[in-house]
Amino acid sequence: MSAMESLVSKFSDVIRSKRIFAPEDAYMEHVEIILVGNGPYVLFDSGYSIQKDEVLDWVRKETNGTLDKFILTHQHYDHSGNAKAVCDVFSVPCHAHPIEIDLVKEREAELSFISIEEDFVVKIGEINLKAIFTPGHSPGHLTFWWEEEKILIGGDNILTDTTTAVTPPLGNLSEYIQSLRKVLDLKPHLIFPGHGKPIENPEERISHLLSHRDKREKQVLEALLKNDSSLEEVAKYIYRNLREDQLKFGVNMIRSIIEKLKEERKITYEEGICKIL
Ligand SMILES: [Zn+2]
Repeated sequence: MSAMESLVSKFSDVIRSKRIFAPEDAYMEHVEIILVGNGPYVLFDSGYSIQKDEVLDWVRKETNGTLDKFILTHQHYDHSGNAKAVCDVFSVPCHAHPIEIDLVKEREAELSFISIEEDFVVKIGEINLKAIFTPGHSPGHLTFWWEEEKILIGGDNILTDTTTAVTPPLGNLSEYIQSLRKVLDLKPHLIFPGHGKPIENPEERISHLLSHRDKREKQVLEALLKNDSSLEEVAKYIYRNLREDQLKFGVNMIRSIIEKLKEERKITYEEGICKIL
């Protein structure tokens, strides 16, 4: 057993992650829901609504039917799909950042919420998890930091095998990069992400993600300046093997880079013409 495997197993009685598989047309193949504590218990995220029974059965079994808190890292449907069911069955309100609450309310008007922001402390027996504001993927995205053990419940900020989708208008790449740096500064030892197995080398993974974003930005800028090409053409050039049904998504990723460069006053982009400032 490696040192890192023992780190995951060391905390297996207080942090449990359950993989919920996606419906066929979903963007991600699966999502992880995370249960922290061994009485009291706090659940982070709730999975796709199509897997409601599986989610509820698992939470019931793991908690002996007594959940103390339910928290959303962010509003996306793969994380909030069973929010209403969890809150109803376990008689708990839904905790989330106010920006995310407004977005979930559009779908779940009946749900009762408790608004939490940066520095809110989630007390789970002896464990204190501090909310860290990490916008970018979603505008009110929160992660939860266990300072003593340097463990992060990471939502979709840092994923194990894929890059995080950051698409306007709700996604913001400048904010996303700042959030990555903020988490890197914490020097985490272990991250439980929203998609994928626990990240055992967080600093290496975040540094890789930062340099990947930097490289992409340079490629996109080059493509925008070189040709008089449409965003569709730039997306096809940058993301090779892009399927036709992924084109809109690719274009939105390019848009997020353009928005970032504009916010940084590095370029202007008007009517398809990019100019360096
Ligand atoms: Zn998400």
